[in-house]
Amino acid sequence: MNKPLIVVVEDEQAIQDVVAYNLRREGYEVLLAGDGDEGLALIQSKRPGLVILDLMLPGIDGLSICQQLRADPKTRSIPLMILSAKEEESDIVIGLSLGADDYLAKPFSSREMLARVKALLRRANTSRQVSDDYIQVGPLSIDFARYEAKLGGQLLTLTATEFKLLAELAGHPGRALTREHLLNRAVGDAVVVVDRNIDVHIRSVRKKLGNHSGMIETVRGLGYRFVE
Ligand code: CA
Repeated sequence: MNKPLIVVVEDEQAIQDVVAYNLRREGYEVLLAGDGDEGLALIQSKRPGLVILDLMLPGIDGLSICQQLRADPKTRSIPLMILSAKEEESDIVIGLSLGADDYLAKPFSSREMLARVKALLRRANTSRQVSDDYIQVGPLSIDFARYEAKLGGQLLTLTATEFKLLAELAGHPGRALTREHLLNRAVGDAVVVVDRNIDVHIRSVRKKLGNHSGMIETVRGLGYRFVE
């Protein structure tokens, strides 16, 4: 089977080298860009299977690239992993809210980088059905018109907030969603809640998912992610 093309946008030569070397050794085809403008043009013309994107770049910065890729239907679904230095933690949160699928904080090991790449590609390949009023992911189905969620055909008894949380997560499988994002989507501004309250709702949803509670994964320091 052909391994997908991966575009790496990174201005630090040493990191570019080590990322490209390790990906190529695994059989991936790799194209490199050293600045933002070149990177964006490359992604738009090649439509790779995955993008690894540094945030601090000469030319257009990584966050703007992220935003542009997600706004364009032709590049919207390309899996996107952002790279960032530890001190850019707030940028990671912004990147994820702009639609990046995962992040890797520098310094990272090659093994970790490869594991994340494989996981992202696997998630991108799993089949799922998502429409405006119906989501089917693995054993879970969500019917928005009926306001119903079923697991393995069995109706789940969820509160309104729990339903919205689960629907938001399942609607973006594999994507890390920040607490703030979930709060806005599921709770709205009608209720004043502290950030942590999301955790209480999630805990309750997980309990109701029983054996499938692992479908909601904690992303440390950020929020949650739905995994299939
Ligand atoms: Ca950089």
